[in-house]
Amino acid sequence: MKNINNILEKNSDEMELVHSFQDACSNKEFYKFITTLPIEEKVLIKYTSSLEDAFIEHKNCKNCKGIGCCKNSVTGYCYTPEKEKNIIKFSYVACKWKEKDLKENAYKENLELFDMPKEIKEASLKEVYTDDKSRVPIIRYFKEFIDKYNKKEEPKGLYLTGSFGSGKTYLVAALLNEMARKKVCCALVYYPEFLRSLKSSFQTDYNERFNFIKTSPILLLDDIGAENESNWSRDEVLGPILQYRMQNHLPTFFTSNLTLEELETALSITSSGVDKVKARRIIERIKQLTIPMELIGKNRRS
Ligand code: ADP
Ligand code: MG
Repeated sequence: MKNINNILEKNSDEMELVHSFQDACSNKEFYKFITTLPIEEKVLIKYTSSLEDAFIEHKNCKNCKGIGCCKNSVTGYCYTPEKEKNIIKFSYVACKWKEKDLKENAYKENLELFDMPKEIKEASLKEVYTDDKSRVPIIRYFKEFIDKYNKKEEPKGLYLTGSFGSGKTYLVAALLNEMARKKVCCALVYYPEFLRSLKSSFQTDYNERFNFIKTSPILLLDDIGAENESNWSRDEVLGPILQYRMQNHLPTFFTSNLTLEELETALSITSSGVDKVKARRIIERIKQLTIPMELIGKNRRS
């Protein structure tokens, strides 16, 4: 008796599946959608509800104008059935908008930020203000830089000085983003904060962080001179980083509110006293690594 009941129950479950499949197929569009799958009806029947979900998502995609209008359960992805042997597997496949987005943002993988705002990855040479004459020689230098880098001519970076908010960081970041599009790895480091975090990483990943910055194919040390100087930061951090980069011809950029002369003074005075020789040595290295330029402009910070 128990066996008969089981068989009856099983049959009624199967009948229910058949009915809901037939119901769904009364929608001609759904029927057309599932017939694109090269699989027998008796298999399809088992997946009616998931196939309906996938059908709705594919329909959403057909009329979609962009990722901002996505109606699907996972934004930018479409729930998609695929035949695998004699079963159906469902997965979320990136839509054409998501694919485009992923492609356009792939360069960001080549950018390593250290305490920099992540919006800096959006800075673009195309967006650089041209209303300001002091940008012209810098942009010209950037073009030269790209050209020389492509020809493996080991171009120098910039020591870009200028007033607060004039757009120094934005400009250099725009160039480095462009280099990242050319598949060159770049590190953008907010130097004062990097020093603080490096100091607190003695017990952990100090060497890893230090070496990463030291050896990065292109490096920006942003806002140098705004840190609290110590013998350690000048002689054990900055000095060796610059020395290595000089020896290996690795392009290095600096932005600063200080001129090189002012930076030299700032570097000479530490909490342990005054050391003009060591400060001079750092400045000499910066001079070897860069071309000095100035960005004069109004404060663009809102
Ligand atoms: P600085 O480093 O000289 O202090 P920033 O590069 O931080 O100045 O620029 C100040 C502000 O102006 C930032 O919010 C930055 O995003 C914006 N900015 C500067 N240049 C541009 C530009 N070309 N296009 C859009 N925003 C810019
Ligand atoms: Mg800045």
